[in-house]
Amino acid sequence: MQRDEILKLLEQVGAIRTGHFELSSGRHSATYIQCALVLQHPQHAEQLGRALAERFKDHTVACVVSPALGGLIIGHEVARALGVRSLFVERDRSGQMALRRGFELKPGERVLVIEDVWTTGGSTREAIGVVEQEGGLAVAAGAIIDRSGGRLELNVTARALLEMDVPSYEPDDCPQCHAGGTASRPGSRFSRSQP
Ligand code: ZN
Repeated sequence: MQRDEILKLLEQVGAIRTGHFELSSGRHSATYIQCALVLQHPQHAEQLGRALAERFKDHTVACVVSPALGGLIIGHEVARALGVRSLFVERDRSGQMALRRGFELKPGERVLVIEDVWTTGGSTREAIGVVEQEGGLAVAAGAIIDRSGGRLELNVTARALLEMDVPSYEPDDCPQCHAGGTASRPGSRFSRSQP
């Protein structure tokens, strides 16, 4: 899948919306991304998983680890395309990311960490930390969309299907507010996790 094809698909299903939005961080942006809206279609999830897996064919990995919840479906599809296991990390009661449910990594097991969207890459960084803590070796990380604007800092090879530099502003600096507009809050209807 080429960049344009992916962008068109995401727009078609309403996963990328343009307008005037208040993100849950309180910042305003003209773009809102909700990957669940494309991943709800299994055929699209499979297609994106295959495309993302293709970006890592030069890496040999034994399993995929994804941060829950956003990374679950795409992680599963990437693992399917690579023919490897799909595990996930999730927050425990203390709020720490952990490998639970009896999931285990073999010592030195080579892991690809997969997420849906990177804004700061924080969840991916945490997942890499858990992999290392559990004795695995995180060799690479992938996402459908990188909206970090090149500010992503991961200590492994990082590749996304789509790089989007999406500006966001403090309300006082928001050009659309200055033009008299009012931001809507998709976060309250869609997801609390969108930064
Ligand atoms: Zn605004």
